[in-house]
Amino acid sequence: MQINHNYNNLEQSYLFSTIAKKVNEYKQNNPDKNIIRLGIGDVTLPLAPAVISAMHKAVDDMADASTFKGYGEEQGYLFLRQAIANYYAKKGVELTTDEVFISDGAKSDVGNILDLFDKDNIVLIPDPVYPVYVDTNIMDGRQINYIKGTQENNFLPMPDDSIKADIIYLCSPNNPTGSVYTKAQLKTWVDYALKNDAVILFDSAYEIFVTDTTLPTSIYQIEGAKKCAIEFCSLSKTAGFTGTRCGYTIVPTDLVKDGNELRKMWLRRQSTKFNGVSYIVQRGAEAVFSDEGMAQIKEQIAYYLNNAKTIADGLRANNIWFVGGENSPYIWLKCPNNMSSWEYFDFLLNNANVVGTPGAGFGDAGEGYFRLSAFGDAENVKEAVKRIIRG
Ligand code: PLP
Repeated sequence: MQINHNYNNLEQSYLFSTIAKKVNEYKQNNPDKNIIRLGIGDVTLPLAPAVISAMHKAVDDMADASTFKGYGEEQGYLFLRQAIANYYAKKGVELTTDEVFISDGAKSDVGNILDLFDKDNIVLIPDPVYPVYVDTNIMDGRQINYIKGTQENNFLPMPDDSIKADIIYLCSPNNPTGSVYTKAQLKTWVDYALKNDAVILFDSAYEIFVTDTTLPTSIYQIEGAKKCAIEFCSLSKTAGFTGTRCGYTIVPTDLVKDGNELRKMWLRRQSTKFNGVSYIVQRGAEAVFSDEGMAQIKEQIAYYLNNAKTIADGLRANNIWFVGGENSPYIWLKCPNNMSSWEYFDFLLNNANVVGTPGAGFGDAGEGYFRLSAFGDAENVKEAVKRIIRG
């Protein structure tokens, strides 16, 4: 037998383990120091009350034979797919419920969607980027071309007609940079994809953080996108579901490639390899989209965005270059004094007792940059910013 040798081509990711090791060492040597973590990409606020009460009620449903649920609908319960379609309608995007697929999160779907595509397709990935896009394609042995995010393009790389691509990844608002594509920029991407007969895999995991109403929160707000794009979203950051697990993927009926309706292929793939998300979690997810739930999660998002503003204001006042932080929980800054990402990590840990994430961990183009996250406690964030500025 032969294993999948592509796994030998994966680079070991030492990013978060190295961070943990360095922080632990520092703590051991300096037990009295109060370390503030602005490195995490995980939420900290609890589930909203509307979600909790919907889940409690769903637990009760499971305790009674007349309301008990066994295997659920393959694509996800209709009540949740309808709630998501209604959410999109408010964004001006018309979806049918059979175009909405419920899953246990965006990470699985972003990886699993590759089952639909031949290994010979060429992939285009922005750098720096959420590492899952890269690793899942390396596992399949696909050729990857990168497009570089830079200070000049505000870490929003645009298509290059000289680069061939069949599968294009876009993440907006972006992890790690916090940059958000405008509608005009996304239109350029959609036109490029249509011209090249390519598919855009659009990751909108942070769409709820977009408060500027001129910015897109779904690629389907762009004309032509239903013919070339699949959209992934998640309740992880939207509603604190990182530990609860629920996401959704939109595959439009109009998306036909190589003579095949991708929606039908994805349904076949999911119903073959996936048995759905628990009823209790889907009821909790439904509550996110209720008026009450949405009002509650918007308060949480405002809390995180206020943290982001605290960080952004502090950096701006000290002439530190950054992007993000306005319509995103992430702030992506240029390391002062031309420090490398890891030099700045050590500098902040030792001098400010603040932990962030070195940009180099998200791709070569991230070297010299640094990610701060707004998912912390407001008082801690204020204190951290004071210390970062003092240096
Ligand atoms: N996409 C991006 C850009 C992310 O940053 C994350 C999580 O950090 C995910 C997807 C994964 O989300 P989920 O928790 O739904 O798997």
